[in-house]
This record gives sequence, structure tokens and C-alpha cells, in this order.
Amino acid sequence: MTARPRLRLLATGGTIAGSSASATQYVGYRPAVAAADELLAAVPALAELADIAAEQVAQVASQDMTGALRLALARRINALLAADDCDGVIVTHGTNTLEESAYFLNLTVRSRKPVVLVGAMRPANALSADGPMNLFRAAVVAASPQAGGRGVMVVMNDQIIGARDLHKSDTLAVDAFRSPLFGVMGLVTDGTARFYRGGLRRHTEASEFDITTLSSLPRVDIAYGHEDDDRTAIDAFVAAGAQGIVHAGAGTASVSARVKPAILDAVSRGVVVVRAPRGAHGVVGRGMEFDDAAHGTVTGDTLSPPKARILLQLALTRTRDPQAVQTFFDVY
Ligand code: ASP
Repeated sequence: MTARPRLRLLATGGTIAGSSASATQYVGYRPAVAAADELLAAVPALAELADIAAEQVAQVASQDMTGALRLALARRINALLAADDCDGVIVTHGTNTLEESAYFLNLTVRSRKPVVLVGAMRPANALSADGPMNLFRAAVVAASPQAGGRGVMVVMNDQIIGARDLHKSDTLAVDAFRSPLFGVMGLVTDGTARFYRGGLRRHTEASEFDITTLSSLPRVDIAYGHEDDDRTAIDAFVAAGAQGIVHAGAGTASVSARVKPAILDAVSRGVVVVRAPRGAHGVVGRGMEFDDAAHGTVTGDTLSPPKARILLQLALTRTRDPQAVQTFFDVY
């Protein structure tokens, strides 16, 4: 990295670009309003850290993020980072699906250079808006000589969290983002990024997932397990053309006797079914409360259902064999 880092800010919308009718209104506001250049201009201190150019990749609330948008974002980042004149990328993003986008980029960006995602829980014009400081801290991390090779990172509040570990744990709280199982990767204090640990799961440069020629991602749906659940959702997803289904089951992603026949039928039709915990925390291993070996199902390790869905989409671009899919879940 040069003495003065050259960074690119890619804006996709979200509350960090949101606008509220009044400074005290945190809930009833419009996300995805401020343009990429306005986000940069709102934090003049960024110019002290790096040369940063902004570009608008999308302007959406992140619940409207799609596989197509994520593919376009990943491709743009790969193109930028392949060039010598870009040392790192910051992505501003809505917080609702920040987990999915961060993990998708963690698996599809092929570079050691830092990629840092950032959002905000309060709109840009709110009292005590968190976006400007979060953006400043994201730039501190992206400009840090220690940031490369750690996979995609997310900076919220003063914490650096690895993409695989990130969890949105609250609907509105400013400190909504946590890594309950594995802890944070580092902290940002004023202008300094401090790193303490890294993940061991495969990512970025070491990833096998190549999106360069992909025109779309396979359809993967999530079925939620609950009392009195039945086979309706899984049958409907199969009928709609799902190539994969994540079963978000209770506890260790358990499967009720009511849903089990639908899962067995789906597997027999070549649909890959992954079990992930609806509680989003803890490990789901093979054979836990379900005979995965006999039933041809895959277990999601510690991935939450939405992140298991992302990995399953990418795995299905390589294979439809459940055993081969399982090996991806064992290393990513
Ligand atoms: N609806 C917003 C979004 O784009 C919420 C946020 O960014 O906090 O995800």
C-alpha cells in the first residue's frame, strides 16, 4: 500500500444514506436517499486518511438487495481491486441484510486488499447519527496496513467484525451488531485500527467460488421450523424450482416428524437441503437430532440460516451432490 492509501467508496443505500422528517425520528424515515458523494462530503476528516473516490452501485434499502445486485457489487469490487490504483474498498450498506452481503463478498472477492462494509442504525440527519463515525472508522480500517488478508470485515460502532461471524442482534439499537460465538476481530479507537484475532475459515483469495461468468445465482429458499409446521413451505419451494432449501430448525436445526417426509422427497428430487439453527447461534453437526447420512442432508456448521443460504447458492454453482456441498460447509 502506498503512503497515502487510495480507497473507493461504493454506496448501495440503507439507513446510512437515510433521511428523516425530523432529527428526533429514528424509525419512520426513508432509507437510501443520500448519494455516495454526499456521504463522503459529510465526513471531511476522511480526506485526512486517504484519497477516496465515491461511486453509487445501488440505492436500496437492504431488504431489497438481490442476488443480481450482490453479483454486480462483487464484480465491481474484483475489478477495482485488480487494478494498481485501488488499495481497498469501503461499501456502505443497509444493516438489514449486511450479514448476507458481507458473507457473500467474503466468498467471492478474490483479493488480499481490504474490503470493509459499514452501515448505520440511525438516519444521516438524526440526532447522534451513527453513520458518519462508522464511515470514518471503516475508512481507518480500510486504510490500515494491517487490514489485508483478513477477509471481508464489517465496522459498526468501534468494532471490527469478520463477515462470517457478524450477527444483527437488535432491530433498532445502535450496538445491534455482534459476534456472539467468536468475538470481534478488532477495535477502532480514533484513527487507529487494532486487530486481535482472525478467522480460520476459507475466504477471499483462497475461495473456490468464481463469479466472473455467472449470470445469476441458483434459487435457494429458507423454511422456518416451528410448532405445528407442516410440509407446505418445502413443497411450495420445490414446486417453485428451488435447487436448495435451508431448513431453519429449532435447537440443533431439528426436523419435526411433520416436515421430515417433505425433506426426504425434496432430497430425492435432487434439491440440496441444509439444516441451520433458527436461533442463529451454535453449531449444527452431522447426525445431531437427524440422520443426515441416511437422509442425504447437509449440516450448516455455525452458519445462521441466511448465511447458510448464501453459501448454498455458491456451492450449487459447483455441484449438486450433497456430500460435496457438505465439504464446502466444513471449510467456509
Ligand atoms: N432498512 C434499512 C436497510 O437498508 C435499515 C438499516 O440500514 O439500518 O437495511
